[in-house]
Amino acid sequence: MQCNIYDWDSSKTISMPMEQLISLVASINIKETFKLETIKCFAIIARTQLARKLSTYGGIGCEKHKGHIICTEPGHCLELGLPKIEIGENIIKAVRETENLIITFDDKPIKPYYHYRCGGSTENSENVIGSRITYLRKVFCDFCQGVDDEEKDKFYTLEDLERLLNVKIEKPKNVYYNIRGIFENIDIDDQGRIKSLYIGGKAFKGTEIMEKLGLNSTRFNYMPVRFLISCIGTGHGLGLCITGAEEMAKRGMDYRDILNYYYTGIKIEEMELPEQDKPLKGKVIVLDPSSGEGDIYEGKGINNLREGEINLSIALETEKLLKQKGAKVYLTRQGKENVHLSDRAEIANRLHPDFVITIGQSTFQNQSASGTEAYYYREDKEAAKLGNIILEEICKRLESQNRGLRTADFYMLKEVKCSTLQLNLLYMTNPVDADKLANPDKIKEASEAITHAIIRHYSELGN
Ligand SMILES: [Zn+2]
Ligand SMILES: [Zn+2]
Repeated sequence: MQCNIYDWDSSKTISMPMEQLISLVASINIKETFKLETIKCFAIIARTQLARKLSTYGGIGCEKHKGHIICTEPGHCLELGLPKIEIGENIIKAVRETENLIITFDDKPIKPYYHYRCGGSTENSENVIGSRITYLRKVFCDFCQGVDDEEKDKFYTLEDLERLLNVKIEKPKNVYYNIRGIFENIDIDDQGRIKSLYIGGKAFKGTEIMEKLGLNSTRFNYMPVRFLISCIGTGHGLGLCITGAEEMAKRGMDYRDILNYYYTGIKIEEMELPEQDKPLKGKVIVLDPSSGEGDIYEGKGINNLREGEINLSIALETEKLLKQKGAKVYLTRQGKENVHLSDRAEIANRLHPDFVITIGQSTFQNQSASGTEAYYYREDKEAAKLGNIILEEICKRLESQNRGLRTADFYMLKEVKCSTLQLNLLYMTNPVDADKLANPDKIKEASEAITHAIIRHYSELGN
């Protein structure tokens, strides 16, 4: 997905891929030197912040610079704007490995608060921002203990407090104070001279104090006008504690452990993309990876290739891609176990899909046979149309020979009551084809080709 960003410096629109923008936002919040699992938390946090701006979640992008998802104006969409910083390798890796994941509560992206160090426990939201947010609950955090706070102590005079808090404090004047444990049991004569007092539990004569502290007289008074305010932790204490998160990562916990620890009751799930990025919304597709383990018809190729495993990995990869494009996708099997043909047909019929695609491979006794072929049932015009598009897309991307579309009366083609196609991707018995089938990148490309073909098919149909 491409994102439009309003660039404050140049007053121009910049366009960049969503994932690059997420990397940039994450780079502002976390250092490259943190553990990968901590950085992943921040990749997800950045993506969650952006998801809140998307129309899918009721957002309208930047409210000030319309038509842009965010702006780089400091203090508007992002506290610091979007400084031009270099994106580190670990950030890119973390963003890639958390692809599309965001943090949700009640199906909406959360407001992912975080702070530098909680100092023992995080806070309930009502104590910080005044409103109760269910996922921002107090949790105990032992993880950030033992870290020294820098500049944790600060002195404030009464004047400082008046100025900073905009209040008026009535200052003590010529008052003797009994301050428990510090100054106690003052004995004053009728001249106003201190005869004796206890300091820190020990009795002193007024003259002793005068000598030891270098005072001018025994007629003195004291009053509390300067305060030491000492802090535990750094930040407001809401949500994720960065120092604690890093410690959890060091102890081997992953980003899911960390996010679930600091945000109460959340889900980590795939982000819904806006409509225009979901051309397959409303479509139901069944993927049918043939030949599970133990199927007597499972093809065996050279290099110990097993048909059932290849078919399943293509189905799983294609499922992921089709879902990203908005389709509802079901598989006739999720694991390596074999599912009987009649059960596979029944699963497909029960779901009333728009399309069923059986995924298989070819074998032949002669190693020279290679290429891609597809089968449909002769009356099924829609399957014929999609079949040709899929062949075209796959042969282009995998540089395989297009062996064409044929009619057949295979069980699935006959028994499934909707458009159904059998795709035989490559020949497991051909050395060049077998190399491609053993290459995960090629499996990915094949899945992309199938996905792209399905999108083309429906857009050319005009629905
Ligand atoms: Zn903005
Ligand atoms: Zn903490």
